[in-house]
Amino acid sequence: MQVRNPRTGAYDYEIEPLNELELTTIIQKMRSAQEDWVEKGIDFRIEVLQKWKESVNLRKEDLIEALILDTGRSWETLLEADIVASSIDRWCKISKGFFSQENRRNSSIPFLEIEQDLVPFSVVGVISPWNFPLLLSLIDTIPALLAGCSVIVKPSEVTPRFIKVIQETILEVPELEHILEYVEGAGATGAALCKLTDIICFTGSTATGKKVYQAACDNFIPVFLELGGKDAVIVTETADLERASSAILWGSVANAGQSCLSVERIYAQKAIFHELVSRLIAKANNLKFAFPNAKDGQIGPIISEKQVEIINEQLADAIEKGAKVHTGTGKCEEMNGGFYCFPTVLTNVTADMKVMTEETFGPILPVMQYIAQDEAIELANQTIYGLSGAVFAGTEEEAMQIGRKMKAGAISINDAALTAVMHEGEKNSFKMSGIGGTRMGPSAIKRFMKQKAFLINSKQVNDPWWF
Ligand code: NAD
Repeated sequence: MQVRNPRTGAYDYEIEPLNELELTTIIQKMRSAQEDWVEKGIDFRIEVLQKWKESVNLRKEDLIEALILDTGRSWETLLEADIVASSIDRWCKISKGFFSQENRRNSSIPFLEIEQDLVPFSVVGVISPWNFPLLLSLIDTIPALLAGCSVIVKPSEVTPRFIKVIQETILEVPELEHILEYVEGAGATGAALCKLTDIICFTGSTATGKKVYQAACDNFIPVFLELGGKDAVIVTETADLERASSAILWGSVANAGQSCLSVERIYAQKAIFHELVSRLIAKANNLKFAFPNAKDGQIGPIISEKQVEIINEQLADAIEKGAKVHTGTGKCEEMNGGFYCFPTVLTNVTADMKVMTEETFGPILPVMQYIAQDEAIELANQTIYGLSGAVFAGTEEEAMQIGRKMKAGAISINDAALTAVMHEGEKNSFKMSGIGGTRMGPSAIKRFMKQKAFLINSKQVNDPWWF
């Protein structure tokens, strides 16, 4: 399978997707290795993950190089690579506390006690997308490993160059043999994992998520789906517009808008609409493409060619229906084989435009005016998605009041896209943005374990209900 380079457009890399038989063999070995992995206990698993962290650290430069080739962008990649170590440390700390909790307790029947056991799933399948290839391949993997599961990860076929480096780091830690596997492949490999594993963590589009959900249903396994979004921001007339414009621009444009939690719709109250739009235009015009050098400028290429078509189609639809383009050229621009999209501030947008209803996954800022607060909330909730959102208002109370009415799993208050940087808040995806328990916050580790109860007659008392 040929892989495209997002900066040059050249197909300069190849992967060899594994077939179902090969995956079956790998997964069989993982099943038997996992028994020992769970037996050895949490202290052992923490020690092994710390060793792996060192191994990844030693190869950090190679990892960054591969990820830059995969994604074409530089500064976001440095952030992504930095997150590995802190993520492992954070989860090691959480799981240490989690497994040391006392779990014997009295029941409501005086002579009976309860002891809880947690039984990890044997093999977790992780299927991840291309927008943050490393981070999103690890976000469920680390807690699942610490929970006592073995994990097989299939990153996106669009950005697979980093896989080889990760595989080499795993080889450096013999305790991870058959416990952690990274495999190359596309949709068919992902579909095979849905048949062969015991639980699936899927991050990707809602369209593919539905297929994964169906496959998990056929296989009767649990599934965690983290899917698309169409995040709205509401800005009231009392908001600090200097803050709001800077935060919204970052939330919409970071990683060239290729984030599930990216700001995709902006609702501004009438009195401040023009002022907010002018500030967004001025600040957007200060940005520049990370071209020809990936290290200069803030806007890297659109990573996937398919996404270029989606962005162009949505912009064309908006322009045809009367939207005004204030910045950029109204489409992705081809430069040396790569495609780049300049942060595009749009006004005269209407609720029926694709750019207001479908996920864009690009640096597009459509701004719509509202008069009353209820109208803004209704517009913000007018979507099949419910991933996250944001509110800017003069006081925290006012912002919280609006945020409570927004139907999404995480709301940034007087800031934007905070789930990108803050992983402690427990949250569910609302509506078609996902399904399953929270992947963020300490309780996320529980998703990887089945709960088992021992119901103990500790006093050897005869039960009064016996014959
Ligand atoms: P995608 O759905 O096209 O692909 C995601 C993964 O699924 C890839 O690894 C792909 O190979 C695999 N896949 C494809 N067909 C499959 C099948 N039938 N069975 C199993 N696996 C299959 O998504 P994408 O284009 O790679 O990523 C972009 C999408 O991901 C956006 O919609 C974005 O919002 C979403 N996303 C969501 C989150 C979140 O946390 N909610 C985070 C990042 C990205």
